[in-house]
Amino acid sequence: MAVLVPDAVWTPDGLRSGWSVEVLGDGRIGRVGPAAPDGERLAGTILTPGLVNGHSHAFQRALRGHVQWTEAGRDDFWTWRTPMYALASALDPDAMAALTALCFVEMVESGITTVGEFHYVHHPPAGGRYADPDAMARAVAHAAEVAGIGLVLLRAAYYRNGPGRPLLPGQRPFADDGPDETLAAVERLAAAGMRVGLAPHSVRAVPVDALEALTAWNGLVHCHVAEQPAEVDAVRAESGTGPLRVLEAAGLLHERTTVVHGTWPDPGDPERLCAAGATLCVVPSTEVDLGDGFLPLGWRNGARLCVGTDSHARVDLLAEARDVEWHARALSGRRNVMAEPSAGPGRVDDLAERILRIASVHGGVALGMPGRGIATGEQADLVAWDIDVPEADGAPPLVFLAFHAGRQHVRDVWVAGRRVVRSGRHPSRDAVRAVWASERCRLGL
Ligand SMILES: [Zn+2]
Repeated sequence: MAVLVPDAVWTPDGLRSGWSVEVLGDGRIGRVGPAAPDGERLAGTILTPGLVNGHSHAFQRALRGHVQWTEAGRDDFWTWRTPMYALASALDPDAMAALTALCFVEMVESGITTVGEFHYVHHPPAGGRYADPDAMARAVAHAAEVAGIGLVLLRAAYYRNGPGRPLLPGQRPFADDGPDETLAAVERLAAAGMRVGLAPHSVRAVPVDALEALTAWNGLVHCHVAEQPAEVDAVRAESGTGPLRVLEAAGLLHERTTVVHGTWPDPGDPERLCAAGATLCVVPSTEVDLGDGFLPLGWRNGARLCVGTDSHARVDLLAEARDVEWHARALSGRRNVMAEPSAGPGRVDDLAERILRIASVHGGVALGMPGRGIATGEQADLVAWDIDVPEADGAPPLVFLAFHAGRQHVRDVWVAGRRVVRSGRHPSRDAVRAVWASERCRLGL
């Protein structure tokens, strides 16, 4: 057992100065309360729950720095897929493990303790199957072990390029033969002890009859929805309605569902999502980088929001959560848009706490790990943030975190009670960089 004594602890009831947190041997949180005298002093820090990454494609980390110029003239989401598909087709399980480990170590160093990996590169690019058909998923799981990060593997289903459009050659590594193969894979991974979910890639890539067949799965469901106008148009031309309603009609919109992006919703979609008890995961950095657009204002009223890192143009979840508010300000011409309406004056920490919840406990709901944060009995996923820095001087600590801090302020990180980052560094940082450098050479990337 360890007792951590930061300057302050962000609890479900607000910030508490001079409190300590007991970390039990089983990886859970014990007593949380006024500081015990014999704990480990974490001077100059505040302790928050670990950040939860609701949406990641770890392999896309290798595109960083390679997709910021164009040879095509007009460049957008659809042309960006060309280098992404080329990368996916270059990867085998060893490369996938190395690249994913690099990305996951970057995540834990940024305060992320659990990642929902939306995993869609399953098969050899030339066709056929690996000897172990789950080799790529196991490579991702191995990377999570190396990084010490909590993993929920969201095993994707992908069957077509779009309505009436067969698979492109570059999409072959993503495609199962049909829902039976996808469901069997998810069941195998669950039986092997992995935390898993099912991820119909999108309504564009999974036809309605296949969506209906996938309802045989009773666990988590994640799906890209309304990321691009052309996607919405194609789905509407096929089904007569937008992607969220198609998902709902197929029986896949429920309290275990997380809808990713939602940038181009139909009228009524936010209410539909709320009524189903589903979660919306957004990734402002990717949505801006790919030219998808801004999350429309209507989603912020009552929808449970979480954030992800998606393409890893940026790995900084506090920045993602803050951008949800900042983009709302840019769209509305107002300030403090997501502040909870209240009869009286708001508390200083109200909006900051909402942003911190988006980056942490809301993601836990999306990944089937609902929790209250730092409270007795919860898993000890914790981040100690360095606030003894000049840029924090004079600012209320939670407001500093929510609006001004970044991954550079992460000092220590615990996952299920185990300290995986100390003084901002993961012990395997250099090793995973070396392994990926070697894999890059082998693959000629
Ligand atoms: Zn995605």
